[in-house]
Amino acid sequence: MIIAWLEEVRSGDIPLVGGKGASLGEMINAELPVPRGFAVTAPTFKRFIEETKIADKLFKALDVDVDNPEMLKNAEKVAKDLILNSQMPPDIEKEILGAYEELCRREGKNIFVAVRSSATAEDLPDASFAGQQDTFLNISGGKAVVDAVKQCWASLYGARAIFYRVKQGFDHRHVYISVVIQKMVDAEKAGVMFTSHPTSGEPLCIVEASWGLGETVVSGAVSPDNYVVDRQTGNIIQRKISSKKVMHIKDPKTGRTIQQETPKDLVDKPVLSDEEVLKLTEFGELLERHYGSPQDVEWAIENEKIHMLQSRPITTIQKMPVKEAAKATGKAILEGLGASPGIASGKVRIVMQLDELDKVNEGDILVTAMTTPDMVPAMKRAAAIITDEGGLTCHAAIVSRELGTPAVVGTKEATKALKDDMMVTVDGEKGYVYEGVLERVEEKPAIASTITKAKPITVTEVKVNISIPEAAQKAAATGADGVGLLRIEHMILGLNKHPMLYIRENKSDEYVAELVKGIQAVADAFYPKPVWVRTLDAPTDEFRSMKGGEDEPEEPNPMLGWRGIRRDLTEAEHFKLELQAFKKLYEMGYNNVGIMLPLVQHPEELRRAKTIMREVGLNLDKIEIGIMVETPASALTIDQFIKEGLDFVSFGTNDLTQYTLAVDRNNENVAYLYDEQHPAVLKLIEYVIAECNKAGVKTSICGQAGSYPKMAQKLVEMGISSISANIDAVESVREMVARTEQRIILDTARKSL
Ligand code: PEP
Ligand code: MG
Repeated sequence: MIIAWLEEVRSGDIPLVGGKGASLGEMINAELPVPRGFAVTAPTFKRFIEETKIADKLFKALDVDVDNPEMLKNAEKVAKDLILNSQMPPDIEKEILGAYEELCRREGKNIFVAVRSSATAEDLPDASFAGQQDTFLNISGGKAVVDAVKQCWASLYGARAIFYRVKQGFDHRHVYISVVIQKMVDAEKAGVMFTSHPTSGEPLCIVEASWGLGETVVSGAVSPDNYVVDRQTGNIIQRKISSKKVMHIKDPKTGRTIQQETPKDLVDKPVLSDEEVLKLTEFGELLERHYGSPQDVEWAIENEKIHMLQSRPITTIQKMPVKEAAKATGKAILEGLGASPGIASGKVRIVMQLDELDKVNEGDILVTAMTTPDMVPAMKRAAAIITDEGGLTCHAAIVSRELGTPAVVGTKEATKALKDDMMVTVDGEKGYVYEGVLERVEEKPAIASTITKAKPITVTEVKVNISIPEAAQKAAATGADGVGLLRIEHMILGLNKHPMLYIRENKSDEYVAELVKGIQAVADAFYPKPVWVRTLDAPTDEFRSMKGGEDEPEEPNPMLGWRGIRRDLTEAEHFKLELQAFKKLYEMGYNNVGIMLPLVQHPEELRRAKTIMREVGLNLDKIEIGIMVETPASALTIDQFIKEGLDFVSFGTNDLTQYTLAVDRNNENVAYLYDEQHPAVLKLIEYVIAECNKAGVKTSICGQAGSYPKMAQKLVEMGISSISANIDAVESVREMVARTEQRIILDTARKSL
């Protein structure tokens, strides 16, 4: 069978039409409104390879050392060229053309179609690595469809896909794909829907919607409107309308998908009516019933008609954080710091080197000495993370919290004490690792209650910290009053190419574009709330492993070394690129972005940084500029910083504590001495708040201590203007802030009686 019509296939047809094709067939069969189309079957691809006689050359080209990037790239080129340059066998071409004509006859003249690959190997856990994400939109005309089919086939041989299959032990000769051709919906509005809550699994249907084609929502280019329906009562319990500044549409001239600014009157207008939200929920329930599990659905609306474009099971629910392990029957075999709450069980995967990351599959427990930005994709797959090293503010701790993945750090010996394939349970709240799978006491996670509970209004603003732009939407969903710290070093280290190498290769523009992209994602999600972006602050040892980082100085104590503002001022070439990124963002209208300077210890540093800012053309009168108070020196001379001109200060208590107490924040041997609420630290903070309040300078905190309700209480009493907490702590901090503010008012009232 060369092609198969979607309405004729079912879930058992995966070997023929792949997972996507079979799922669409199921949806049509469940009487859901699905755009019609057909699939070029996987055996057709096999036939193409055989009949064009390229099989030998193709598989020989793929037989390379995939750890050699040059060879891998060459394999991709040879394989793709072989496919794209081979003539489609006449009978296959005829069938595809005939099916497209038939679709046009049924659906309208010269219709536009979407052409997508559909994987048959359902056990490939990460389809994007397998190269099965390729999609060609708005294709029209028989010849263009035939070409797009070949493009989809060729996408099976992208470098990453080849690498991935080899590492996973798949034989290229046995991996074939089907291609789905479906009528394009020229969406006026589109989005995604979770038929149940994506982490708790509660019967809450969550709909995200934006104007135009759905890519803006899927890619995160805009913050979509967000609607929550309680499926038990059938009521819409939340409507969050965002500013949707851009949209994707079909270019009327070329038929290509383009991004454009959203017409002004639509930017802040709700995308969906209540009827539409409820109708989508109804379809979502149908899908969930049909598949027997909660679904993640893509949908679109054209001429007021709803279409279901795709449905997949939600895979995050089994990661649901459960709060108590009180009924634990297993034996705790390791202890560390509970760095990201939640409990998860899985198979241990010890990663000592980066080339071992592929062995971490969805749901495994990643065990390593310390995570790095290269490990983020594997961290996303992991059910939990355990490290030998680190404190509550190390890379593993920060990123795990933003990913919502339980983590225990600083166990000292996890990579030695645990062995690959062992089953363990990780309690990221208490900091224990148990042998085996523990009995869990299921509790509703805090996230569900944020949806129904009213948010208390506080005068002291409660903001959120972000380190990876992917967390922007999740952070914005907390309802935080802004971003008190956006760390850009995770973004930069994740590029895996040293910033100075971009400069040496004359590719500064590329580097600036990367910075703009990352910051923009956060600035967009929060607009118009303020986002304080911190300039680069990474120690030299973290740069050294990057491509081009060989010349980083070897420092005996990088924490006291060439980092933060010192590096920015002595490597001004790079600092200027950071500032150019800010300039671009201001030109794009992101006037909510503020600049924060890390690790300052002398007012002169602030003065010099401002001079460079003016040199690159920033208008300092229009920008919020602040410093991190992280050294006792900056705290004790805050009056002189204020004289230099400042809009805000933010306490970096992670560093302020280590420098005040002489306790290395990442050294687990002295972790017991590390106390952000030590009287000396509190005294410095109190002094700075008092001085700033006299001068009308805002004060905030963005160190980990801001996430502790007890600390929040003290800071409110001292008169701080805002507190910036980790995503998972925003709600509890907000409650404590509200309670403290009310108590202060009550005490004052009582005194005046
Ligand atoms: C701090 O020092 O408290 C801080 C927020 O900065 P970082 O943890 O990135 O050093
Ligand atoms: Mg710091």
